[in-house]
Amino acid sequence: MAEELDPFKIAQEQLDEAAGIMKLDKQAHAILREPKRVLVMSIPVRMSNGRTQVFTGFRVRYNDARGPAKGGIRFHPEESLSTVKALSAWMTWKCSLADIPFGGGKGGVICDTKKMNEKDIEALSRAYVRALGTDIGPEVDIPAPDVYTNPQIMAWMLDEYINIVRKSQFGVITGKPVEVWGSAGRMDSTARGGMYVMREAAKLLRLNPKKATIAIQGFGNAGRFAYTLSKEVMGAKVVAISDSEGAVYDQAGLDMAKLDEAKKKTGSVGGYKSKSARSITNDELLELKVDILIPAAIENQVRADNADKVNCKMLLELANGPVTPEATKILFEKKILDLPDFLVNSGGVIGSHLEWVQNITGDYWDTDVFYAKLDKKITKSFNDTVATQKEFAARGEKINPRMAAYIIAVDRVAKAMKARGWY
Ligand code: GLU
Repeated sequence: MAEELDPFKIAQEQLDEAAGIMKLDKQAHAILREPKRVLVMSIPVRMSNGRTQVFTGFRVRYNDARGPAKGGIRFHPEESLSTVKALSAWMTWKCSLADIPFGGGKGGVICDTKKMNEKDIEALSRAYVRALGTDIGPEVDIPAPDVYTNPQIMAWMLDEYINIVRKSQFGVITGKPVEVWGSAGRMDSTARGGMYVMREAAKLLRLNPKKATIAIQGFGNAGRFAYTLSKEVMGAKVVAISDSEGAVYDQAGLDMAKLDEAKKKTGSVGGYKSKSARSITNDELLELKVDILIPAAIENQVRADNADKVNCKMLLELANGPVTPEATKILFEKKILDLPDFLVNSGGVIGSHLEWVQNITGDYWDTDVFYAKLDKKITKSFNDTVATQKEFAARGEKINPRMAAYIIAVDRVAKAMKARGWY
């Protein structure tokens, strides 16, 4: 039978597995299997060519028992309701594991921004927020950037929201430019959080990060910063990187200026030139013999059909949903330390929480304070996850890190729902 690759079915399957292990109350389980609220919007936008184009947009509020829904907005040609639902579930577990006062949400629009000009992207961003109206808000549901959205898009959305509510509520959206009270540290906080997790996990594996080799799949916000921070914070050597068009491998290590040049000249990092570099495929990148593999692109990259060929010691899931449930099991059997997405990439939303706190209190901190708070939070999540795994192991039950993280996250949400009288 073919492996299940529908993202929401995968999210439900993961929850079901965790519910079984932790013996979750059946009523809590039933509530947590489905999103609380799903919005599907038809969004007409007057484009710069004078014609009106109709886009489909989504916003899913998965669970808000512990606080307002929180989660990014993706602009993607293959966006689907199933993906947005899955991502909103993962946001719920992410915010809970990080122990920040948010629930989970996610949004998306089916569109191809590579084929749109800036004016049209702005018009679509504003129209999306008008369609949502007060269904978002600093105490309701708080969006942020994700795949193919960025701080500028957040600023347009903020402006549109302020025009609707006529209140300067800068905490409605995070990942904003610093000029409109975004946090300087938020830009690289997803990758930076991942580096802190890598540092802690390296201790566990007795791996010297300075001697480690790293392969990164993806050259977007997460992948690009993972590249610079791997070198800067960890002193490690990045030997391979990819984008949606191609990939490059260089045993001697890669150089950022040359990567940018390749991207500019050939449209892809695959066009990278150096004596020892060779162009490889995205599939080959995942199978390289390296110490640390970082999928930082999109979902379903390591599956039942290629997990066996993965050849690293640590797999850091910086993307959302890059490893399927069947692949998780294979990696666990192969004794590869596969650290789950909603732990590894939680630096993004932890950073968003710090930005939001500053917005609603009006008290702004320096970047070093921001980084120290981020480090403390994500390191605690990592330690909690390892401690839960150990607790189960002491009882003779071997669970993988994803299940350990699920158990912590689900338990907190279930307890909040119970306290609020939802079951
Ligand atoms: N889009 C990011 C994620 O998937 C950040 C979400 C947020 O900051 O709200 O975690």
